[in-house]
Amino acid sequence: MEEHCIFCKIVAKKIPAKIAYEDEHVLAFHDLHPQSPVHVLVIPKEHLTSLAHSTDAHIELLGRCLRAAAKLAAELGVAEKGYRTVINTGNDGGQSVHHLHVHLLAGRQHGWPPG
Ligand code: AMP
Repeated sequence: MEEHCIFCKIVAKKIPAKIAYEDEHVLAFHDLHPQSPVHVLVIPKEHLTSLAHSTDAHIELLGRCLRAAAKLAAELGVAEKGYRTVINTGNDGGQSVHHLHVHLLAGRQHGWPPG
């Protein structure tokens, strides 16, 4: 737990979030400012600043986040039509919250290349 990390505070239930999925290692909650009809963030409960900060010790945890996103997409009924998963990393990647998160975006056609 990082004291000033907003997502660690959500994990600790110190600030509210609309939780979509939770297990021992992973938490998913609806984005406060959704960019698509479905916009959920999947995070490791353990603080990990970004993908760039990951090591081989995180391989299983990263897999858990992606599997949680896939399971959630199925549960939310968007798997068949498709969805976008995004991990923004660092300044050029557009990362604004420095606790790794997978965006799960669905419910509309997503363009390519992204902005
Ligand atoms: P990124 O720009 O990739 O770091 O994404 C951070 C995301 O976190 C943005 O889509 C924000 O809308 C979202 N966000 C920030 N604070 C909260 C919060 N308290 N609860 C839910 N989503 C949040």
